[in-house]
Amino acid sequence: MQVAIIGGGIGGLTLAIALKKAGISFVVYEATAAIKPVGAGIAIANNAMQVFRHLGVDQALTDRGMRISTVLLTDMELGVLDQTHLTAFEQKYQLANIAIHRSALHQVLVEAVGEEHIQLNKRLQGITIEDSGMYHLEFEDQTSATHEYVIGADGLRSRVRQLLFAPSTLRNAKQVCWRGVLPYTLPATYANAAVESWGKGKRLGFVQLTEQQVYWYFLVDEDRYKPHTTVEEYIEDCPLWIQAMIQQTDPMAIHCDRIYDLKPFSNWYHNKACLLGDAAHATTPNLGQGACQAIEDVYVISKLLERHSLEEALQQFPPIRRSKAHAIVRDSWTLGQIAQFRHPLFVFMRNATFRLLPSFIKKQQIKKMFELNEVAIANPKPKTVD
Ligand SMILES: Cc1cc2nc3c(=O)[nH]c(=O)nc-3n(C[C@H](O)[C@H](O)[C@H](O)COP(=O)(O)OP(=O)(O)OC[C@H]3O[C@@H](n4cnc5c(N)ncnc54)[C@H](O)[C@@H]3O)c2cc1C
Repeated sequence: MQVAIIGGGIGGLTLAIALKKAGISFVVYEATAAIKPVGAGIAIANNAMQVFRHLGVDQALTDRGMRISTVLLTDMELGVLDQTHLTAFEQKYQLANIAIHRSALHQVLVEAVGEEHIQLNKRLQGITIEDSGMYHLEFEDQTSATHEYVIGADGLRSRVRQLLFAPSTLRNAKQVCWRGVLPYTLPATYANAAVESWGKGKRLGFVQLTEQQVYWYFLVDEDRYKPHTTVEEYIEDCPLWIQAMIQQTDPMAIHCDRIYDLKPFSNWYHNKACLLGDAAHATTPNLGQGACQAIEDVYVISKLLERHSLEEALQQFPPIRRSKAHAIVRDSWTLGQIAQFRHPLFVFMRNATFRLLPSFIKKQQIKKMFELNEVAIANPKPKTVD
């Protein structure tokens, strides 16, 4: 097998589908005993859905998820601050943003990859380079494997990055995030909307995942988080039905994490080793684009493979992707800080600004986010700095 993909997350599995499509042999090595994604629901935006259409899995995902046609920004009482309709983009691309359960997304991706290409319980521990230039991979279970190429799709704390690339910096956003899924049907107004409610130093979001399932998340500033507390203790200013919905969630279906991203760095490719997704450009979740950016990485590699060798495609992909991926990291970080303003004056000004923001500005930002960089893919730089 030519390629070792380290990590069977969204980025690694999507890359596996692209390599399969290109006729390149690969193995996905996944650390866990089962592909069992943590984290409840996920929004897959139009840019990523275009990639999934290119890879032939968009319909399976659309069938398993729920269309998001409106993004609603509200205060904690659900008073609307801003409303963005996505129908124009749905028409332009003939694709919708969707919300989907992570396990449904993974199931579709695993089916497209083929389980025979995925090895579980394979936590990468060490890498050495053989005299032949091949990568010798050592796993925690004492087994090893040799491959010509190594792709690190192993997330925020990437082992491949630690072993083969220059040191990078994780940044703590100082926010604690709960995520939950429960059987529930939202009021009809919110059936196809992604809602985010901003308070003071906290925010709540929810979206319908299927006709009978809702995904919610809640973030609070780290210095306001009291260990062992539950979300109920922070949402007394939300409507009663939201409080009841969160209370009804099975505690086993609630996950709590701290939010981190990666300080942007440029070097994602070196000597037939490459990073993609969170391993290369992990972002805070405020724009709902982390996975979408991993999926866009794969698009660029896949399109380059139509005209170039694997080595050239991996070498040319970082300069094409860097500026958009880094802009997402930067904008998402800033949005996360604004969303968690605490001073009443700042909160007032923030809410007033979002109420008055002209729709063409929002549309421009979304347009940039949804566009795939076809021009740069068609004209890759002949030689890269990597
Ligand atoms: C609260 C929250 C909400 C989010 N919401 C959204 C959203 O709505 N939309 C969106 O697009 N993004 C969202 N994201 C971001 C998204 O989850 C990530 O960007 C995405 O999962 C990155 O995919 P990945 O494949 O690069 O990495 P990961 O999903 O982290 O996958 C890495 C895989 O590698 C495996 N692995 C790790 N180390 C090793 C090793 N040593 N050997 C072998 N395997 C290994 C892991 O087990 C895992 O399966 C959210 C993130 C958070 C925290």
